[in-house]
Amino acid sequence: MITFCLPQLPYDYEALKPAISAETLRYHHDKHHLAYINTLNRLIKGTEFEDSELIDIVRHSKGTIFNNAAQVWNHTFYFEQFGVYTPIQGQLAEQIVRQWGTVDKFKEEFVAAGVSQFGSGWVWLACDKDGELSILTESNAGNPLTKGYIPLLTFDVWEHAYYIDYRNQRADYLNALWNIIDWRIIEDRYMFFFDY
Ligand code: MN
Repeated sequence: MITFCLPQLPYDYEALKPAISAETLRYHHDKHHLAYINTLNRLIKGTEFEDSELIDIVRHSKGTIFNNAAQVWNHTFYFEQFGVYTPIQGQLAEQIVRQWGTVDKFKEEFVAAGVSQFGSGWVWLACDKDGELSILTESNAGNPLTKGYIPLLTFDVWEHAYYIDYRNQRADYLNALWNIIDWRIIEDRYMFFFDY
């Protein structure tokens, strides 16, 4: 029987200011993320998923188990990509420029996709098995892994992610996140999945 635990944030609560406040992190990580983990642990007990890896639960479950497993996976992935801003470079930068022309154009389309997601969900940068990139939106707990894509970057557009700091201004929140992305992490994800 696997019991999932809340991963520690890889930075302190003040580290992402002003893009994300310490108060938001204390709610988003310590309460929302933890709640998904506790619910998932309770739900999988006695089911076919009680010994499964998280990614396999995301890929193969449905309903409330899927919703909670995917929210656990998505939030870990989301929190891990932040830190000290590091510019985008390498093969991922080349691929973004090949597909969007400029990094700024890519960012603009990514934010526009996040703004247009109706209700709760996530906006993703994902790649296919050939390394071709896509901007995808998913509602609620949706994750592009279930459609055969490899997730690289995600912005949470649930209101709990931004309402303390930005109230209803979702676009301001999304644009501010570019200032705290450690692109080395996104490039590592790209190379890890793509370069074999
Ligand atoms: Mn969230």
